Amino acid sequence: MSEIRLEGVTKRYGAFAAADSVDLAVSQGELVTILGPSGSGKTTLLSLIAGLAKPTAGRIHIGGRDVTDASAQQRNIGLVFQSYALFPHMTVLENVLFPLGVRKIGGVEADRLARDALKLVRLDGLEGRRPSQLSGGQQQRVALARAIVFKPDILLLDEPLGALDRKLREELQVELKQLQRRLGVTTLLVTHDQEEALSLSDRIMVLNKGRTQQVAAPTEAYLKPANRFVAEFLGIANFIDLPDGRTALVRPERVRLGEVGAGQNGASKSAKVVEAIYLGQMVRYHLALDGEGARPIVAAVPFVGRAYAAGERVTVSWEAADLWPVAE
Ligand code: ADP
Ligand code: MG
Repeated sequence: MSEIRLEGVTKRYGAFAAADSVDLAVSQGELVTILGPSGSGKTTLLSLIAGLAKPTAGRIHIGGRDVTDASAQQRNIGLVFQSYALFPHMTVLENVLFPLGVRKIGGVEADRLARDALKLVRLDGLEGRRPSQLSGGQQQRVALARAIVFKPDILLLDEPLGALDRKLREELQVELKQLQRRLGVTTLLVTHDQEEALSLSDRIMVLNKGRTQQVAAPTEAYLKPANRFVAEFLGIANFIDLPDGRTALVRPERVRLGEVGAGQNGASKSAKVVEAIYLGQMVRYHLALDGEGARPIVAAVPFVGRAYAAGERVTVSWEAADLWPVAE
């Protein structure tokens, strides 16, 4: 049975649909990412599930129960937003105790739950600090502890790492995933960061203009996008014209480069390196295929000691199996 189920969920502001007939089923313990550009309706969807806004149409089920008309308090949901929204005048411990107080849990029991939650996010020892005495990453951990302390049925995270710098964000991504797995809590994570979505999720829901574009496992969405929007939003997309008039996607990692002449066969094309960008483990090449009107191609190749330089001539090829026809 799915833990979260959306059926035709729609939210209109006047004639504008911020969420447009969205269907989604999230299984118990699953982590699904809602990925889409700014304004695509991600926060709207989370607010509807959390009960902070009412859908114009459609039904929302949590744990098999229709909660469409239930209040936010009746839904037992843990929420974390990009801005930590901690209470500045309260200590870390008091912040984490707060949702327990709201639920009439106090005394020794509350203290134990709060300290357990703080230990889970590795903040034990900092109980007495105030938010202003914590780093951004620590503040976001407090927000996470506050969201899980009352053992919510589901966890909704709206760009929780968006305000952090890259390195800290990557660290917290790993921690978040481990915590989510350990707790086994069904989680919806909103992000506009495609790498974050690809690395963290069991499945990704790609949203554009309030409409679902695709719901799929990360590799499937990346290599077999449902349409052009998903192909372009989930990374670098090379589009190849097929002989039958269709367009196909090939990802940069699937493009092979070779020396001119060396084992060159009919399937490979000649190209010139326009730019070689060294990225550490990988080199990203921007290539111009020979022939008029040929589209530029991007290849991502592991760096093994030598890279081609701009201006060098190379051969470019890919396997037929790595081509994925995309609809507009
Ligand atoms: P995202 O989180 O993906 O950036 P939002 O869900 O916040 O997008 O917003 C989706 C769209 O709905 C945006 O165009 C936004 O301007 C609009 N919107 C959100 N809330 C309201 C509101 N209360 N009134 C009118 N329009 C809104
Ligand atoms: Mg948002």
